[in-house]
Amino acid sequence: MSQDRRFSFEFFPTKTDAGHEKLMNTARHLATFNPDFFSCTYGAGGSTRDRTINTVLQLESEVHVPAAPHLSCVGDSKSDLRGLLEQYKAAGIKRIVALRGDLPSGMGMASGELRYANDLVSFIREETGSHFHIEVAAYPEMHPQARNFEDDISNFVRKAHAGADSAITQYFFNADSYFRFVERVQAAGVTLPIVPGIMPITNYSKLARFSDACGAEIPRWIRKQLEAYGDDVHSIQAFGEQVISEMCERLLDGGAPGLHFYTLNQSEPSLAIWNNLKLPR
Ligand code: FAD
Repeated sequence: MSQDRRFSFEFFPTKTDAGHEKLMNTARHLATFNPDFFSCTYGAGGSTRDRTINTVLQLESEVHVPAAPHLSCVGDSKSDLRGLLEQYKAAGIKRIVALRGDLPSGMGMASGELRYANDLVSFIREETGSHFHIEVAAYPEMHPQARNFEDDISNFVRKAHAGADSAITQYFFNADSYFRFVERVQAAGVTLPIVPGIMPITNYSKLARFSDACGAEIPRWIRKQLEAYGDDVHSIQAFGEQVISEMCERLLDGGAPGLHFYTLNQSEPSLAIWNNLKLPR
């Protein structure tokens, strides 16, 4: 892929064989676009531990694209985390997305020996030195639990100082929020690449639910237009594709160092944007 920009696709591990087969087919299709890496989410507290490991190893061995497991620290002991790091290192995995995670409801209070993502980043560095390229999460519209924007920026900076190499953002629909975030982080002396996380719009009710939970704001004009389409899936997708393609174009023109697509295990919505942007194959 390009020397100075990077493009990646994220998957989630599935519970069924049919879901897993679909994920692998999606990955094979996306691999033909020569992305820099794939990533695979991890259920906080270890709920997807084996499925995340298997998916990542299979993406590497069968699809031949570097794969990065997500790893979260809430609900996992240091010894669990150490075991995972050793396993990934032995398998030749070179990149990890390090997160605090959110325990699924019903799993009780946050437990585990490491409290925040910066603790996990420090732990990975202590255990494995410079073996892994460490990605962390960034929130251009502020993490929903942060006390205020300043605090959230300081906490992001803490992750950089702990040894993160680059960051992937929560998704957003307003390019200005990304540029403002990057400016604030750079003003704090941190220059690591912050790659926008891109969520294609394909289904309004799911998107609204996700966005409420993770604190991503759907601008009023987008919300109103999507609501007006009702059940007209075709119009929702066409409008979504246009809005997100235009935003991505602005992000890349404005200096974003690449794009990370939240695929939800589907190739077409991300590829439609990819093709609109005329990204290289
Ligand atoms: P942190 O950086 O630890 O921040 C969490 C909150 O604590 C923030 O409000 C922050 O301001 C505050 N904070 C941070 N450090 C400190 C400190 N030292 N002292 C006081 N306050 C602090 N979740 C999953 O469960 N599995 C996944 O695979 C997954 N993948 C993701 C991928 C991306 C790219 C993104 C953006 C998110 C992902 N998430 C995933 C969601 C993420 O786990 C949640 O958003 C979680 O609530 C915060 O994780 P974090 O790593 O950003 O936490």
